Amino acid sequence: MNTRRGLRSKTWTRGRATAVAASTAAAVALAGAIQTVVQDHSAPTSTVTTATTQSAPIVERPLNNNCSSGYVTFTFDDGPRENTERVLDALDGFGIDAVFFWNGQRVKGRERTVTRALADGHVIGNHTWDHANLTTGELPNGSTESWGKQWVHSELERTNEALIAAGAPRPTLYRPPYGATNRQVDGVAQELGLRLVMSWGNHADDNIVNTKDNEGATTQEIVDVTILSMRDGSIITMHDGPGVESLDALQAIVDAMNEKGLCATTKLPEDATGRGLELSG
Ligand SMILES: [Zn+2]
Repeated sequence: MNTRRGLRSKTWTRGRATAVAASTAAAVALAGAIQTVVQDHSAPTSTVTTATTQSAPIVERPLNNNCSSGYVTFTFDDGPRENTERVLDALDGFGIDAVFFWNGQRVKGRERTVTRALADGHVIGNHTWDHANLTTGELPNGSTESWGKQWVHSELERTNEALIAAGAPRPTLYRPPYGATNRQVDGVAQELGLRLVMSWGNHADDNIVNTKDNEGATTQEIVDVTILSMRDGSIITMHDGPGVESLDALQAIVDAMNEKGLCATTKLPEDATGRGLELSG
């Protein structure tokens, strides 16, 4: 984790605030406190909640629903997490309906978050059970599963079942972690009625904006790459935590959408593959 992330993010947020005139020393101290908790991914829930509450984004100007230039789709991966409720609060404030790609193993105990996301008008897709690499069998903890179509099937179907048990309709979309898919994997997904939505495209024409908010991008970098690229049909890739950079970026992005005449939709373009299957064979 970039140790300056918390500081950068907070500094940018404060730059927008009009009523706050804290001393530099106080700002640095606060940023340091946030940085400490954000760095610790395995921290207990209470600590993470404290961090996200302190850096609450302010929804000042929601979408104005001028859709003269078309629609973009916001996507958020890797939840549901502690931070997801804050993401839902922000999206609610901005008037954005989004698509979430969630891991099945995170759903138990967060059924109310699933229910709320659906009630708010969002769509929930499949991001595997445990954020597995579907082409190799590698798991985030470093272990490797014995790869086979049966295993791919179970990664996706267990997740479908967890979401359904929490009250969601059967998912019709999947996003492979790390963008790792191939024709065999996609064949299994298609048998389960799941359509591929990649997190980035191989060409600018693919119109998928990877904000890299999970790779240390600053709030300003997220704003810049999104505003520069977004147009009708864009898919914008973000994550529901543990960082808050994307939430801090939303107001500037929404301002640009209002200026350009873009609205938000959960309806994805017919081809959202980013040509990810062309290269993998
Ligand atoms: Zn992911």
